[in-house]
Amino acid sequence: MNSTLKSWVDVPEGSDFPIQNLPFGVFQKEGQAPRLASAIGDYVIDLVVLAEHGFFEDLKIDNAVFEQRYLNDFMALGKTKTAAVRQRLVDILDTDLDNWDASELKDFFLVPMSEAEMLLPIKIGDYTDFYSSIEHATNIGKLFRDPENALLPNWRHLPVGYHGRASSIVVSGTPVIRPKGQQIPGDSKEPVYGPSRLLDFELEMGFIVGKSSELGQTISTAEAEEYIFGMMLFNDWSARDIQKWEYVPLGPFLGKSFASTISPWIVTMEALEPFRVQGPVQEPAVLPYLEYEGKKNYDINLQVEIVPENGQSQVVCRSNFKYMYWNMCQQLAHHTINGCNFNVGDVCASGTISGKEPGSYGSMLEITWRGTKPVDMPDGSQRKFINDGDTVVMTGYCEKDGVRIGFGQSSGKVFPAI
Ligand code: MN
Repeated sequence: MNSTLKSWVDVPEGSDFPIQNLPFGVFQKEGQAPRLASAIGDYVIDLVVLAEHGFFEDLKIDNAVFEQRYLNDFMALGKTKTAAVRQRLVDILDTDLDNWDASELKDFFLVPMSEAEMLLPIKIGDYTDFYSSIEHATNIGKLFRDPENALLPNWRHLPVGYHGRASSIVVSGTPVIRPKGQQIPGDSKEPVYGPSRLLDFELEMGFIVGKSSELGQTISTAEAEEYIFGMMLFNDWSARDIQKWEYVPLGPFLGKSFASTISPWIVTMEALEPFRVQGPVQEPAVLPYLEYEGKKNYDINLQVEIVPENGQSQVVCRSNFKYMYWNMCQQLAHHTINGCNFNVGDVCASGTISGKEPGSYGSMLEITWRGTKPVDMPDGSQRKFINDGDTVVMTGYCEKDGVRIGFGQSSGKVFPAI
């Protein structure tokens, strides 16, 4: 990463989007069809305008790829081309302009973020949710099973996961309707039907698959990075009461499938490269197909806050993606070890990202220890779970050498059950 690189576009202090980030997304401006974008400072970069002015011509990319509703066709060009587009953006935005002055065009390709509506950036095919934080899995084991044997016997041998629901993954800002379903109130033995009373968030990160694999093909941990286009914030909303009653024996179903909220900007693995860190030691040793070399974790600071309808917000969690026990390469290797194929646009999420300390737990279930330690809000009220009218805002960023690479936010406001 070139931390001294500066853009002629003003990037405010603390912005998630310096010239070193340049994430990809899809936006819409009034009276215009959706199109591909990047971001710098407080501006959306309209890639269609740049393409029409020939900025990507020598990269041999059909301009139509930038005029799409989703990033899928762009990602399918492959990393050589998508990275070249990012590099071209650096050349355009860099203060060090040589032969031409792109700033003359700035009013055409820089759109103030306040005028741009960010859309769901990916046509998501399949979605898999893992359970890869050892601190989270241990907390859940302590809360619901045996504190002495919190982790189930398989946990340290494979990245546990389940197939989630892709159709209800929504972009930040989309209302979240409190789900209704079956639940067992208190000590009752019989289920009732009604609005979930234990609505929770799960602080997760997702990655997007940008390269397809064939049915029958396996992806090794060494090959896995070729398949990962980028990452985003992921709130895996969970109705704990519905989940608790329904999950035996096949796992999560309607308690999870009503909504998941992602951030609109996909931060590329190229931008995240400087933030690689070593993962935790895996003990006992994993089977050979899960072994990996090098730094496969990423140092990404994460935060969750609850914003009440007419009140002050409260930060309820500060965590970090680097705590993940199973890394994304191991997740992909495991997912394909049976020959299951991946398509461009598939999403995998990490599972709730909890750290060791109570302030770093990634769900209200853990933060309030199943409702026994409520969170105090600035207005004097308390939260055990999420109320109607609350907005859950997740943010994340990496920082090094004075450069901050941010993810924007995943924000979702909860509305009463219908
Ligand atoms: Mn989850």
